[in-house]
Amino acid sequence: HNISHEIRTPMNAIIGFSALLSEPGHSEESKNFFTETITQSSNQLLAIINDIVDISNIEAGIINLSKEEITVNDILQRLEDQFSLMSRKMGISLQKFTPLADGEARILADRTRFIQVFSNLINNAFKFTNEGSVEFGYKSREDKLEFYVSDTGIGIPSDQLTKIFDRFYQVDYKMTRLNQGTGLGLSISKSYVDLMGGEIYVLSEPGKGSTFYFTLPRCNSGGKEEQVFKEKRKIKLKRDYYILLAEDDIQNSELIDIYLSSTGLNVHKVNNGAEAVQYCRSGKPVDLALIDLNMPVMDGSEATR
Ligand code: ADP
Repeated sequence: HNISHEIRTPMNAIIGFSALLSEPGHSEESKNFFTETITQSSNQLLAIINDIVDISNIEAGIINLSKEEITVNDILQRLEDQFSLMSRKMGISLQKFTPLADGEARILADRTRFIQVFSNLINNAFKFTNEGSVEFGYKSREDKLEFYVSDTGIGIPSDQLTKIFDRFYQVDYKMTRLNQGTGLGLSISKSYVDLMGGEIYVLSEPGKGSTFYFTLPRCNSGGKEEQVFKEKRKIKLKRDYYILLAEDDIQNSELIDIYLSSTGLNVHKVNNGAEAVQYCRSGKPVDLALIDLNMPVMDGSEATR
């Protein structure tokens, strides 16, 4: 219900203000306002779509995380730059705490997801804070770094501290602007942190503020772990395997060929069902046939039969 509301609201704004733009007689100032609203709503819509795609991929178990050595001080600096405008606009101070030297402050994680989790927590901190400050940074915790984002905002009732990590869950603020959003951000963050071998948790006091923490494994090995990880992903084939790929869309066919061939499989491409049947009947080896459904000459169902 919330998702459909969250999609319709910016969509209506985009359609409505686009229509207004094409009408004659509006002042330059009004037109600027219309365009700004359209851009803002489009970005909002894109953010929601990204969340939905992320959560779908997480649920389908098809998230591919990389494990790279990351020096976190640089990233935290960029986050500070990124959020400084919001901090100034809202009159809420933003502080960064990076106590370790660059060489010490290194973790093993997926860079994009790490930034996504951190941005999401900082974004929430601003969203749920009316005055005061937002602070973010990390502390050393044995073989992990413990990252945190702390705010002086409205806080979270104690009985809901674990629920907020559930999909779609939002504390009920009686339909105020605080209920904007999908309620997916924290659940996505939790999944990513889990997958990267860490933990995420929150301490909060209603009326005083909240601190979100997440841990990630430190990296001291100078690149060793990265190699282990990459080696694990390489498939070791016991013999040659042959894939027949029937697909009339050239781009799709190329893409699948590149994916499969890079793992060491032998791929033979054909353009339609009839060619697939012909190839199979020729007696050439086929371990697996990947057959598209909609194809010219003979469709996939018939070819398979
Ligand atoms: P969304 O922000 O889209 O609602 P999230 O999954 O990011 O979704 O957050 C879920 C809920 O957790 C929020 O709706 C809010 O009730 C609560 N929450 C998250 N971060 C904070 C925070 N810093 N302070 C207070 N409440 C928070």
